[in-house]
Amino acid sequence: MKRIPLHIQIVLGLVLGLIFGWLSIQFGWDPAFTSNWIKPIGTIFINALKMIAVPLVVASLIVGVANLGDISKLSRIGGKTILVYLCTTVIAVTLGLLIANIVQPGKILPTATRDELMQLYQADAGSKEATAELVQNQSPLQPIVDIVPDNIFAATGDNARMLQVVFFALIMGVALLKIPKEKGAPVVRFFDGLNDIIITIVEFIMLLAPYGVFALMASLMVELAGDNPERAFQLLKALGMYTLCVIGGLALMVLVVYPTLFKLFTRMKYGRFFQGIRPAQLLAFTTSSSSATLPVTMRQVEEELGVSEEVSSFVLPLGATINMDGTSLYQSVAAVFIAQALGMGLTLPQQLMIVLTATLASIGSAGVPGAGLVMLIIVLEAIGVPAAGIALIIAPDRILDMCRTVVNVTGDASVAMVVASTEGETPGSPRPKLAKDPIVI
Ligand code: ASP
Repeated sequence: MKRIPLHIQIVLGLVLGLIFGWLSIQFGWDPAFTSNWIKPIGTIFINALKMIAVPLVVASLIVGVANLGDISKLSRIGGKTILVYLCTTVIAVTLGLLIANIVQPGKILPTATRDELMQLYQADAGSKEATAELVQNQSPLQPIVDIVPDNIFAATGDNARMLQVVFFALIMGVALLKIPKEKGAPVVRFFDGLNDIIITIVEFIMLLAPYGVFALMASLMVELAGDNPERAFQLLKALGMYTLCVIGGLALMVLVVYPTLFKLFTRMKYGRFFQGIRPAQLLAFTTSSSSATLPVTMRQVEEELGVSEEVSSFVLPLGATINMDGTSLYQSVAAVFIAQALGMGLTLPQQLMIVLTATLASIGSAGVPGAGLVMLIIVLEAIGVPAAGIALIIAPDRILDMCRTVVNVTGDASVAMVVASTEGETPGSPRPKLAKDPIVI
């Protein structure tokens, strides 16, 4: 098992789970076996992901903000970089929302199936009616009020209010920049260490992913099929459509949005950029980690594409932490898909909330496999969709993770080109080769 790469193991888990579910339906095996002995493995996997969501947000955001250095000295490059990063992320989320609203992959499911799914996942969120009523009786300013916790420990408790946690972590990060360096340094080091620990825990949890995925797919099929196996296959059709929506959106980012950015701000040919950044894209695809890819991204951008070290060493590490266009696009499609699959209509304010929270959630996502899925919980909770609904989209997640990480890395490198160009550099040609062995991928 150890020799098979993790992403293949997960695909295997997915396929075997489907086969198990299908066999169980065909041969009329006792559904109690699946719910007593298989489903709990999936529940453990989801619980483990939820378990690390709060510390992950707190540590990665505090370190991310603290890494910006001194607020007052945040240079022109810093402001420009963050502005372009934010713009591309908001474009990505909006694109994801447009695609999910036009294609409506979750509505492929018949109403009865959607109601049933809602009942399955409702335990987390209270009834649909209650949620709707609550939203109706709120002041228009309530979403802003909700961002500020009155008790940070309560915010991190049962059914954690992630947006409040994000707010708290951001404030902590900014305050850390304000206090004298020697006082702040141990705190930053602490959270930096905590961040590494959490990333390692994510790696542990991902080892469980093939089994978790197997259990989730098998039990979902069996539960849904009940006396009507047709329903399970409808769910697969909807999942296929959802996957196509995410991949289509990611392709638009790479083939339309970034080339337009290049046209507007650089004199460089996009094809040339694409050729130079390819090794980093391949590594992103195989590792699903923009952090792991960062050294190669930096090398390609500096040595192959001729960006100065000054720009690349600021823009790229920051981007690997805060700029995740692929992740934010995926989160917006996933949130709308889950809401549709549970039969919940999303109002305009809720969709705007997705823009805000998916932008924040992608900023807070660590550049490691599966981080985007964990942070999706923030988006779901902010719009009142049961967080347990992520069980629906976990199966194809690793494949989508590989694809969105390619976009995350391509986005970081594109912005490095734009910032370098606006700083008067003319990137495009390789630097004279150093006496180093080339990285062969
Ligand atoms: N794997 C992604 C990355 O490293 C993050 C995510 O899970 O979306 O960029």
